[in-house]
Amino acid sequence: MKMPPIENDTGKNELKSRIQYLIDSNEVMVFSKSHCPFCVRVSCSFCRRVYFAFEDGTNYQEMLLEMTGQKTVPNVFINKTHIGGCDKTMQAHKDGSLQQLLNGDNETYDYDLIVIGGGSGGLACSKEAAILGKKVMVLDYVVPTPKGTTWGLGGTCVNVGCIPKKLMHQTALLSTAMQDARKFGWEFDETVKHNWETMKTAVNDYIGSLNWGYRVALRDKNVNYVNAYAEFVEPHKIKATNKRGKETFYTTAKFVLATGERPRYMGIPGDKEYCITSDDLFSLPYCPGKTLVIGASYVALECGGFLAGLGLDVTIMVRSILLRGFDQDMANRAGENMEEHGVKFLRKYVPVKIEELEAGTPGRLKVTAKSTETDEIIEGEYNTVLIAVGRDACTDKIGLDKAGLKVNPKNGKIPVNDEEQTNVPHIYAVGDILEDKWELTPVAIQAGKLLARRLYGGSKIKCDYINVPTTVFTPLEYGACGLSEERATSLYGQENIEVYHTLFWPLEFTVPGRDNNKCYAKVICNKLDSDRVIGFHYLGPNAGEVTQGFGVAMKCGVTKEQLDGTIGIHPTCAEIFTTLEVTKSSGGNITQAGC
Ligand code: FAD
Ligand code: NAP
Repeated sequence: MKMPPIENDTGKNELKSRIQYLIDSNEVMVFSKSHCPFCVRVSCSFCRRVYFAFEDGTNYQEMLLEMTGQKTVPNVFINKTHIGGCDKTMQAHKDGSLQQLLNGDNETYDYDLIVIGGGSGGLACSKEAAILGKKVMVLDYVVPTPKGTTWGLGGTCVNVGCIPKKLMHQTALLSTAMQDARKFGWEFDETVKHNWETMKTAVNDYIGSLNWGYRVALRDKNVNYVNAYAEFVEPHKIKATNKRGKETFYTTAKFVLATGERPRYMGIPGDKEYCITSDDLFSLPYCPGKTLVIGASYVALECGGFLAGLGLDVTIMVRSILLRGFDQDMANRAGENMEEHGVKFLRKYVPVKIEELEAGTPGRLKVTAKSTETDEIIEGEYNTVLIAVGRDACTDKIGLDKAGLKVNPKNGKIPVNDEEQTNVPHIYAVGDILEDKWELTPVAIQAGKLLARRLYGGSKIKCDYINVPTTVFTPLEYGACGLSEERATSLYGQENIEVYHTLFWPLEFTVPGRDNNKCYAKVICNKLDSDRVIGFHYLGPNAGEVTQGFGVAMKCGVTKEQLDGTIGIHPTCAEIFTTLEVTKSSGGNITQAGC
């Protein structure tokens, strides 16, 4: 490996601190000369964990002599402990002390593992490491939103993500169920209306019980939970600042970073002053009223969808397309369904200014927006503006430079190898902060758990980020696994894929007579590989439940023939995937008369 660039290498002190930095920031540090035969022997026994410094030698060796009493190379350090040369390292390897040192058992660190961030990934990793007998601390701290909203232990999913989102989506589905109920013979006279406050309180009470459950689970597993904000001060040391501003320092052999993301603002006048994000929505003390949602991905469509389902007047402002990265055929069908059920879409506009017309709960806001294609400026009045334009990784204020850790400067994401290891060998990262990985709770949990097992349980199993099933909880839910049609076409060529598809009408929609032929199923098969299913797409009720099982099948490499050979469960929506016959290329009729 190459040395990190250091500008000025003159002067004894500078050289000493450069060497010390290398020793401190690398799990295994070998000072060597590329041509030294002993160095080759030593490096083999450590395989991938070694950080080499190949320098022109003389100055380094003089300084190492001063620092360690050893002038010869290789000169080996493990977790800051000086081991010696080739023979001593081989001896340590034989008697097992090398492994102990590699595990970080040598240093008098406060902890074996400190996990920064007590969300999906951090909690899973810390609990697993503690089960494997390690001394573990997890720090979790929620910086309040500009509106002052804050929450308890558990991270995004539990407090301001999956859990409240799905419960509020369910609230909205119940409204449809009530309308359907009359068609099925239920008679009720009372005026049906929704009470935001009751829903918000019930959802937040449940979240409170989860927060408590996480604390108890950490305590039971002997994980030390500290409610404080963590920042690196040295490669093996952090500063933890609690709510009252009290600072405490902790050291550890290894770190796992799992700090997640927070909603992004747009930097336009009025956004932080008057708008809310999903971090505020789920505990909003009042009904948001007429709402403008800005953004067109998961968060925007899901939140816009359930607010409309509660009977609110909802407009979604879309900069370009719906659900970037997803199959656009599916995304547009999900959007059309929302539109048919009353959600308004303002397409190809971006907001430029938000002004307050009247304070209140909710108040009245004026939004000025401009077209992305023309000079047109439009204005609108709303009670609430929900910004859902993506999320920023929480990596910019945690002193990563003090640990020598690299982030992608464009998006603050952390690149890791396939073992979730960063460029600093004793620092790992999981969850939403990872570059080019899924931002989903089960992914963060799986990566965190498997990481702990590899670090402390002798496991070799890595997290598999391929064919991760996911569901967008739009009013008509969209579940997917594998490639979009666009991606499959660009990877394999139009001529090498076959798309089987159909519209369908769930039995439960037939009696109420709604959404006829709006649900849609599609699989994309690779003709070059036995018609293996490389893309699975489902738009319909219970998409998460349906997609989960097909996710397993795709992990096992299911082919179209095997789908066809599977007997369906009747009458269900999922059975449609066992009888797909019409190819998209044939242009055949895909509407269905009934089940
Ligand atoms: P997080 O869960 O975000 O946890 C990070 C924690 O670290 C936070 O508590 C944070 O406050 C804390 N922290 C940050 N910096 C520090 C610091 N310096 N010191 C101490 N603590 C710190 N995923 C799904 O799979 N299904 C869904 O249905 C779903 N719905 C979602 C809906 C919404 C509205 C949102 C926003 C997300 C949703 N997600 C969903 C995504 C899911 O929530 C995330 O992928 C998941 O929470 C990521 O876990 P994590 O461990 O990486 O980070
Ligand atoms: P996202 O996927 O990053 O999408 C951001 C959206 O905002 C895009 O539609 C984007 O439009 C738009 N946008 C960005 N900047 C804008 C601007 N300046 N003005 C107007 N529009 C702008 O973000 P997200 O929806 O917040 O989701 C974050 C992650 O959370 C997702 O990747 C997902 O993994 C996770 N999540 C999962 C679930 C689930 O599993 N059901 C639910 C919610 C969230 P363009 O397309 O034009 O860029």
